[in-house]
Amino acid sequence: MSDDDVSPETWQRITKAGIRLLRIPTPFQVGRVNTYLLEDDPLTLVDSGPNSGKALDELERQLDALGHRIEDLELIIVTHQHIDHLGLVDIVANRSGAEVAAIDLAVPFLENFGDDAERDDEEAATLMRRHGISEEVVRALRQVTGSFRAWGSKIKVSRPLHDGELLDLRDRSLEVQHRPGHSPSDTVFWDGERRILLAADHLIKHISSNPLISRPLDGSAQRTQALVTYLESLKRTRELPAEIVLAGHGEPITGHVALIDSRFAMHQRRAEKLYGLISEQSRTGHELAQAIWGDVAVTQAFLTLSEVIGHVDLLVNAGYVREVADGDVVRYEATSETPSDRLGDLIPGGNPVAAEG
Ligand SMILES: [Zn+2]
Repeated sequence: MSDDDVSPETWQRITKAGIRLLRIPTPFQVGRVNTYLLEDDPLTLVDSGPNSGKALDELERQLDALGHRIEDLELIIVTHQHIDHLGLVDIVANRSGAEVAAIDLAVPFLENFGDDAERDDEEAATLMRRHGISEEVVRALRQVTGSFRAWGSKIKVSRPLHDGELLDLRDRSLEVQHRPGHSPSDTVFWDGERRILLAADHLIKHISSNPLISRPLDGSAQRTQALVTYLESLKRTRELPAEIVLAGHGEPITGHVALIDSRFAMHQRRAEKLYGLISEQSRTGHELAQAIWGDVAVTQAFLTLSEVIGHVDLLVNAGYVREVADGDVVRYEATSETPSDRLGDLIPGGNPVAAEG
């Protein structure tokens, strides 16, 4: 695993690449969000921070300290659909006239941001009830989610990006790579020449990126397996010869392979732990979340349920667990007597660490 402290050489390389880190405050538990200024032509901002006066003030002040104004921005890149990253994009784009770039499949979601909110909430509520979360908690959470939306905003995307395309700036080419999982629209930007990856929330050093259950961007009703998708995306990132990964929160990452390997190991362990609990007795998703996280499973009911369902998907796919109906809720039950330390590799397609011996 890489050291906690980022070396001065790493910061020098980032600065020399014309990349400036602006840490913008958010009202969320995650703390500040990282946005990046690329001092290039066009002058480019990667993500914006949430839609708040405080975030806008900070963005202006930090740009000013670097000798730039919001009005100077020419391109804004949106890495994914979460409000802590995109809330200010519209305001900044209107003031500067900057182009706004985002992965093509996220465009309808970004342009209609908030309109489908009621439907999103209803689907999340149905999912929560089905997995044993009480009506009381479901209602409380809907209020919180509703109030959070004010930190987001609709975005007019003038430059839809396609997976695999090169986004050319004067001094660099960024390869657009779709890496769904943390959210369905996660996009990373690869500077192969400098071996620097702009990864947003796809990979964060100090926290594992929550693969939140989200509605598919193509409008289909089928729930996607967010953690399975995420692990597949991580594998692709593991293949990149990246030397510096710039994340959406926290510090720059060196040694991304070791970090990703530790995430694979963590997800494997968590799935094994859940299997152990399910083997003892059949349980709902919410009961499993409570067994692992206690009260946090109530205050963060959707987040922890997403975690549980993501890992149980791995167990269901491998044939160790099945979902059974129990009145209005579903429970998970074990289908085998296999002990939890004998499950073998649950990472989809095989754990690359094991493959390397
Ligand atoms: Zn995010």
